[in-house]
Amino acid sequence: MTAPSRTDTPDGTGQPGTGSLPHFPMVIDGQRVQAASGRSYQTVDPFVGEPWATAADADADDVDLAVSAARRALSGPWGKLTGFGRARLLRRVGDIIARDADYLAELETRDTGKLAREMRGQLAAIPEWFYYYAGLADKLEGSTIPVDKPNFLVYTRLEPAGVVAAIVPWNSPLLLLCWKLAPALAAGCTVVAKPSDYTPISTLELAARVEEAGVPAGVFNVVTGFGPAVGKALAAHPGVDKIAFTGSTRVGAEVARAAAANITGTVLELGGKSAHVVFADADLDAACNGIIAGVFAATGQTCMAGSRLLVDRGIHDQLVGKIVARAETIKVGDPTATETEMGPLANEPQYAKVLSFFSSAPAQGATVATGGAAVTSLGGYFVLPTVLTNVSPDMTVACEEVFGPVLAVIPFDSEEEAIELANGTRYGLAGAVWTKDIHRGHRVAHALKAGTVWINAYRVVGPDVPFGGFGLSGIGRENGIEAVREYTQTKAIWVELSGGTRDPFTLG
Ligand code: NAD
Repeated sequence: MTAPSRTDTPDGTGQPGTGSLPHFPMVIDGQRVQAASGRSYQTVDPFVGEPWATAADADADDVDLAVSAARRALSGPWGKLTGFGRARLLRRVGDIIARDADYLAELETRDTGKLAREMRGQLAAIPEWFYYYAGLADKLEGSTIPVDKPNFLVYTRLEPAGVVAAIVPWNSPLLLLCWKLAPALAAGCTVVAKPSDYTPISTLELAARVEEAGVPAGVFNVVTGFGPAVGKALAAHPGVDKIAFTGSTRVGAEVARAAAANITGTVLELGGKSAHVVFADADLDAACNGIIAGVFAATGQTCMAGSRLLVDRGIHDQLVGKIVARAETIKVGDPTATETEMGPLANEPQYAKVLSFFSSAPAQGATVATGGAAVTSLGGYFVLPTVLTNVSPDMTVACEEVFGPVLAVIPFDSEEEAIELANGTRYGLAGAVWTKDIHRGHRVAHALKAGTVWINAYRVVGPDVPFGGFGLSGIGRENGIEAVREYTQTKAIWVELSGGTRDPFTLG
């Protein structure tokens, strides 16, 4: 099995687009371009573990071109559009994505190994982000402020933040990009997107559709390549006004350091170690279903994975029994087959990381209730859905993000202990409370340190509901009205009404 390779091109010439694999060039200023260096790399289908396409291996020179194009576009026809005009274009982008959803979903499955039905579901939902933000593009209202100075009219304007760098991971490439792109365009910004080196193709194909909708050249640019080269150059570029990053906490901190040097604002959506808190009165079938959705859907490769199960000791064995029974019926295999429930992990490093937890967790004292092994008979990067019991809160698997189908189960004896355990990590992305007691449900939801808490549900999101993390899970919010504000800056305008003058040596 081959990881994406920097040096190999399909025909070994080192030149893009000349081999047997399809080549997808970058999109900068409306042009299809190769990396300035001429280099390309292969992207791998994780189901078969073989390269299937090539993309440009960009570096700082290409980033420079893309950021310059995005900056020029701010003062071109795009910058002159009203909110109504941007809204019309956003609706068209949504319509075109809806038209081509199956094709884009197919590319996503090819690059990520995620289930075709999951990616079709995501692609069917993505247009809603464009429609929702189209609805806000013409409602970005400032305010008039009734200041304590009768000779002044003071009002505010929400102006576009400027050039946005959108850096995204490999697990849901288009969904996570569109969480940034739709509100950024609604606010009047221009965007340079940097997809993960593992999953560049769908983003490049999205760019063609944004162009088809009539969005002017330079408004949406895509640079492809590796994080330490192209991602780093983009995050550090002084021409970028806002960075919207989704990815690991480690890289998020690097991005924040680069941003600090230029005083660039950031929205950071980072990792998580989210907890299900299941009380004895919960509907255990519903809880089991939510827990399965939380940690085994998408092969556990979601930031909001409910990877810790905190369960009332009195129902521990009963609930674990249900989860193990369901986990053992999960159909692992070809992500394009309709009956498959869990596909492969998306890449070799991720596969190696999950396997390392399979050895370290039992070594630290956890018991493998089910799973805990690779599925070598399938080729690709397959592992079994895994449930670990006898986990203590200080074990690595209880503290660190696995980003794979691994559930760590910890019992509790009281509500207070459950809350303490749930809040006992530095992450704070999401969580769930399972109970039929309405008072307890809200009480515990309020006590959890997390950006999203579901009560008797899991893994539900929408364009209209803010999403983001506490603590190491991030800064800022995506989705909802809050997200579009992330891509604006407020300007206050003071208008002197009397025509008089005042003492120039005192503050007004
Ligand atoms: P990653 O942090 O390795 O990479 C994310 C992106 O950053 C990629 O495009 C990568 O090429 C780029 N990058 C790498 N080094 C860089 C650098 N020095 N400067 C700038 N960019 C750089 O993450 P990943 O492995 O692609 O994705 C998995 C991680 O993403 C997990 O930790 C997961 O929790 C997180 N994630 C978070 C959310 C959320 O909304 N909170 C959603 C999905 C994934």
